[in-house]
Amino acid sequence: MSELWRLGLGQAYQGLLAKDFTAEELVLDCLDRIKATEPAINACLTVLDEQAIQQAKELDRLGPDPQRPLWGVPLTVKDVFSLKGAPTTAGSKILENYLCSYEATVVQRLRQAGAVICAKTNCDEFAMGSSTEFSAYGPTSNPWNTQRVPGGSSGGAAASVAACQTPGGFGTDTGGSIRQPAALCGCVGLKPTYGRVSRYGIIAYGSSLDQAGPFARSVKDCARLLASVAGPDGLDSTASTIPVDDYLNPAELDVKQLTLGLPKELWSASFSPEVETVLQEAKTLLTKAGVNLKEVSLPSLKYSVASYYILASAEASTNLARYDGVRYGYRAPDRSGLAELYLSSRSHGFGPEVQRRILLGTFVLSSGYYDAYFRKAAQVRRLIQQQYDAALESCQFLLAPVSSIPAWPFGSFTNDPLTIYQLDMMTLPLNLAGAPGLSLPCGLGADGLPVGIQIMGRAFDESALLKAGSLIEQVFPPIGTPEVKAKE
Ligand code: GLN
Repeated sequence: MSELWRLGLGQAYQGLLAKDFTAEELVLDCLDRIKATEPAINACLTVLDEQAIQQAKELDRLGPDPQRPLWGVPLTVKDVFSLKGAPTTAGSKILENYLCSYEATVVQRLRQAGAVICAKTNCDEFAMGSSTEFSAYGPTSNPWNTQRVPGGSSGGAAASVAACQTPGGFGTDTGGSIRQPAALCGCVGLKPTYGRVSRYGIIAYGSSLDQAGPFARSVKDCARLLASVAGPDGLDSTASTIPVDDYLNPAELDVKQLTLGLPKELWSASFSPEVETVLQEAKTLLTKAGVNLKEVSLPSLKYSVASYYILASAEASTNLARYDGVRYGYRAPDRSGLAELYLSSRSHGFGPEVQRRILLGTFVLSSGYYDAYFRKAAQVRRLIQQQYDAALESCQFLLAPVSSIPAWPFGSFTNDPLTIYQLDMMTLPLNLAGAPGLSLPCGLGADGLPVGIQIMGRAFDESALLKAGSLIEQVFPPIGTPEVKAKE
């Protein structure tokens, strides 16, 4: 069979079980696809070709196993997941020479499910950013137009899946880093409920917000990926013990009985004309399909950007204190004293955006400012949680845009951090609420760039969310596969 890389995750899995092709054939085909597309998109920081081929051969030797939901399926993981023996840089120079000695729970579970991890994907440094332009290893390009960003911070993961390098991948979403790149690259991305997936072995950014989740080219494929990793973990006390539903056979729902609440604070934003047209068309298609759309209001959403950037930066400033050139990370040659060593290692090891967050985070936690900023932000977060739950009393899910603009040209906002932070306004509320959300493509704009839409559900009810997502996915026209063209 040729062009196995085109297969969606579920199709690939069925083909493997039916012995239409071997795990090795599929992995080799995906590795070729990675080789062919990397010069244009730079989605991968490390390609694990030898390890992947070895593993695929071993799987073939044992034979297909229907008990393993990802048997032989090639995947990628964002470069914040610890993977034994492989570099794990989090897109930062400070971890350039770090080799992991253990594996993240997500990686272990993917392997148990039979997946073959082929590459580690690019991201903004320590997952701070919305475009992958803050990676110390160069930006990733959007496969639909390589002059444009793929979104971020999991931009490598989204671009890789959209360019069919592998049928699925994993990223993390602290403030939108799965849903926003999925929207900008035209694939599906799921942010599970906080605590649904273990964070053990994932390089921390904002520990009360970070959540790992899958990327794929259909909602069903995301469900298969989530099913393989969700659940409690003795190594992460924040991983919930609430039972995991059967995501492969989700709740029964009928599209005509769906009621979606449209938060007016998000829909009243100003959109680019291309995005506006696709979103209006999406609403028309949903209404025609019989979905009931109603307006809801969450007045505190106007504070979500301010609140998120205070909380996430505060947590980042503490999480990143460990990279001091002594305990962890790059050590600068300046040895004139301990303070100089810290200063020099951190100034050279961290990029400008990470330094900005550390400064902001340290400030809002400092005595005299804690009450004015951090405590206030935490109170706003609680208000948003309450309003989120209240809104879901009058509808089953919330429906919102993901980004007010399509993938933008490189360099558009790199010197304007506040504008980039504002662009996150559609995705941050869900992280503050701790709830699950799914971003899926709803069409292509007149500029040929994908536009995404997100549905958000109740905490720990990914089963209903995935079911609603796959019904909604069928309402929108398929956007096809990008023709990945090298940069001029
Ligand atoms: N853009 C947001 C930030 O920079 C979200 C990043 C994320 O979800 N990791 O913090």
